[in-house]
Amino acid sequence: MARYREAKCRLCRREGMKLFLKGDRCFRDTCAVEKRNFPPGQHGRDHRPKTVGYGIQLREKQKVKRIYRVLENQFANYFEKADKRKGITGENLLLSLERRIDNVIYRLGFAPSRDQARQLVTHGHVLVNGKKVNIASAEVKAGDAVTLREKTKKNPQVLDSVASISGRGGVPAWLGLDAEGLKGTVVALPKRDDIQMPIDEQLIVELYSK
Ligand code: SF4
Repeated sequence: MARYREAKCRLCRREGMKLFLKGDRCFRDTCAVEKRNFPPGQHGRDHRPKTVGYGIQLREKQKVKRIYRVLENQFANYFEKADKRKGITGENLLLSLERRIDNVIYRLGFAPSRDQARQLVTHGHVLVNGKKVNIASAEVKAGDAVTLREKTKKNPQVLDSVASISGRGGVPAWLGLDAEGLKGTVVALPKRDDIQMPIDEQLIVELYSK
């Protein structure tokens, strides 16, 4: 399976903001954006290049791809489907990404980062409505029950991660969490306001509309 290989903190430094790719470390002062908020590379420290027009649109797309950990072709497919659906294309795009099961596992706090959440999914630890789901891009529906295999519920990393979810911003309103039983519920489909990261999805629409 293709995946990102570039060091995660470099991706944040390139975008000039925290993308929260490394779990609890992102909330400590060891975060690379806190310590070295300039672009990676030999001349990064000298200046952050002024970005205009197409460059701004491109950076916005890269940022969203990196936050949700999807690759170029996958992202283009998301956009195509979002464009065909009723409603506002940019919102459709973000809300589809938000409904991915790997994102849901991350948002419920079962894993401290989306990469680790994806690993839980692809390694067969995740159940939706009692059935194993091992495809990270599978999308949840309202009313779905999301939980983990019984053995996985005892995993110390999972327990630590759930215990520290409030320090990572808590569980969004569209999801419900029974932290003791390690059971999540999709209370309602996400709305645009449920995504708090600073994203201007209209720039991505403009990029793909060229
Ligand atoms: Fe990004 Fe987290 Fe690394 Fe900070 S610690 S630069 S937020 S991945």
